[in-house]
Amino acid sequence: MNRNLYKIIGVDEKATPEQLKKAYRKLAKKYHPDANPGNKKAEERFKEVSEAYDILGDPEKREQYDLMQKGGPAAWGAGGAASGGFGGGGIEDILRSMFGGGFSSPSGGGFSQRSASRPTITVRVPFRTAALGGSVKTRIEVPSTCPVCMGAGGSGESTCSSCGGSGRMQQGQMVMPCSNCGGRGSTFTSVCSTCGGTGEVMSAENIDINIPPGSDSETMLRLSTPAGRSFLARIEVRPDRFLSREGRNIHCTVRISAPQAVLGTKLKIRTLDGKILLKIKPGTQPGTVIRIPGKGLTYRGTKGDQLVHVEVELPTEVTPEEETLWKKLGENG
Ligand SMILES: [Zn+2]
Ligand SMILES: [Zn+2]
Repeated sequence: MNRNLYKIIGVDEKATPEQLKKAYRKLAKKYHPDANPGNKKAEERFKEVSEAYDILGDPEKREQYDLMQKGGPAAWGAGGAASGGFGGGGIEDILRSMFGGGFSSPSGGGFSQRSASRPTITVRVPFRTAALGGSVKTRIEVPSTCPVCMGAGGSGESTCSSCGGSGRMQQGQMVMPCSNCGGRGSTFTSVCSTCGGTGEVMSAENIDINIPPGSDSETMLRLSTPAGRSFLARIEVRPDRFLSREGRNIHCTVRISAPQAVLGTKLKIRTLDGKILLKIKPGTQPGTVIRIPGKGLTYRGTKGDQLVHVEVELPTEVTPEEETLWKKLGENG
């Protein structure tokens, strides 16, 4: 069985990082080899405590460990062997399961393998939804218990021939879970053909992802499926043809003709919340930026603006009639 890392350090699972650190320091001091010369037991204990703190002292690793304790990531197929979890159960095994094996990348699923992290999917979000917040429906492939073997992976247990049933193998200095049986100590005489012995099959789940306002590409959301699987969603904001974002502000570019710039005009332009009529004043210069207050996005309590960049288009070709008019303008200038 796995030893509980919290128990090794002697704290509750709800312990704050400070409490953890304090408890660890106390134990590390107590069992430090310098304080216990020649005491093998203290040395063992010191090592154990240090290793446990290596994991629990790191917020990311701790989270991963907590999830694993709840039966989370193991079920995502760590290691890929027919193991339901981590076999033999020393800290090395835990570490290996957490950071060595990584997650298998289920074929057909949307998950990609990121080093030692939770399954991650990419969610494409419309520009407006990312800016204002909203909900995006997506379909994800999640592992679920194989309906044929009910998660067992096979039937007819026989002692593993590689490890002789111990589930462990010596590899240099390290004791590793047996690669043949995945640390279980036994193999199936008949492997489930539906799941190939993993005890899991992939099934699609529809989920609604709540997109917080002001989300940007690369924003990571921590989510869980209705069945309680935890995963990360990386947002990929779909660009808008007209609007772009810079912090709280929205930018857009309008092109007007030379007469419109000189005489002024009114343009219908799109904002995050619908179309508005924008007044272009007579004598507007190319490169003018018109600020429409409050049409940006709200982020941390402050609302941004929409900035309209005005470009003036000059004709590249003119009709003889237009040429006469431009010439006339030229004479006056
Ligand atoms: Zn099966
Ligand atoms: Zn074995």
